[in-house]
Amino acid sequence: MKVAVYNGIKNITIESREKPVAGPDDFILKVKAAALCGSDLRTYLHGHPKITPPQVLGHEFAGVVDSVGKNIKGVKVGDRVAVHPGIPCGHCYYCDRGEQNMCESRKQIGIHYQGGFGEYVLIPGKTLEVGTVVKIPEDCSYEVAALGDPLVSAMNGQEVVGTKMGDIVLILGSGPIGIFHAMLSKLRGAQDVILANPSPGRLQYAKEHSIADHYYCINEGTDFRGYIDSLTEGRGADVVIVANTSVKSACQAVELVAKNGRVLLFAGFPKEAPQLGLDGNLIHYKQIRVMGSLGSTPRQYQMAEKLLFSKRIDGELLITHRIPLEKINEGFQLMIDGKSLKVIINKFD
Ligand SMILES: [Zn+2]
Ligand SMILES: [Zn+2]
Repeated sequence: MKVAVYNGIKNITIESREKPVAGPDDFILKVKAAALCGSDLRTYLHGHPKITPPQVLGHEFAGVVDSVGKNIKGVKVGDRVAVHPGIPCGHCYYCDRGEQNMCESRKQIGIHYQGGFGEYVLIPGKTLEVGTVVKIPEDCSYEVAALGDPLVSAMNGQEVVGTKMGDIVLILGSGPIGIFHAMLSKLRGAQDVILANPSPGRLQYAKEHSIADHYYCINEGTDFRGYIDSLTEGRGADVVIVANTSVKSACQAVELVAKNGRVLLFAGFPKEAPQLGLDGNLIHYKQIRVMGSLGSTPRQYQMAEKLLFSKRIDGELLITHRIPLEKINEGFQLMIDGKSLKVIINKFD
């Protein structure tokens, strides 16, 4: 079978490998669609502390069950399924509390197991036990089903920050995660969703598809505060979601949030300079809650896939590019150039 092998920074090659064979407790998925993720791009550009090359990346995928081990129950050959890449242990302190995203020994397909950027991928049967395999209905494409992972991370963030009916939500960052946050905020009843980003390309795309209510290009010299004031009668946004990795954005969030507002730090910050220098007096005197979020739970994943299946969240809108596996390097370049939202690999052979 053909796979894209990550050999180190900016080095991915297409190679031929033996098709994986299912042990008694695994099943094999023939991959039909796999999305490039921002975290794959980070690994491609900077490496990853937990990944030792050679490694097949790819953790956002869907496909058809090709073979099953003898102990596997719950899927059969021919089933169309999406699989969440995170595999919680199921029995630690956090797993017991239903907080599997905090699991002490969580494993991930694409990090601890070979990933989905290849024709076939081995799926540990543990995924069935913990509830991270979802059957795809006939009227949903593999491509859309493959977006369950990024969607569910945003969904967990939304649950943490508690977006509610009538909120004015400001989202800093209009990549795939920012877009999902905009869609989810509307679904949760936000009165107004403002999408802001320093580069205009993705904002324009979001505007053409009416993903938010207002769009703002953050340029030096423009009056961002004045703009937010004009939309909020001077109060600021009730919820501000930082959907990018910039420290400056986090500081801005605390300035632009209303009294009694909530700020969600959705993404990680550069590891060499993660200190934020937030204005503590703003947090105190405005009674701001600043929160973080990470990953998702199996329960949330099942909900996310259902939102995609029912089109309550329109996954199609996120897909801007489709490429064959051989062009994976070009796919990363599209992301670097900020020209894409989701790039999908949909041809493997
Ligand atoms: Zn991802
Ligand atoms: Zn656990």
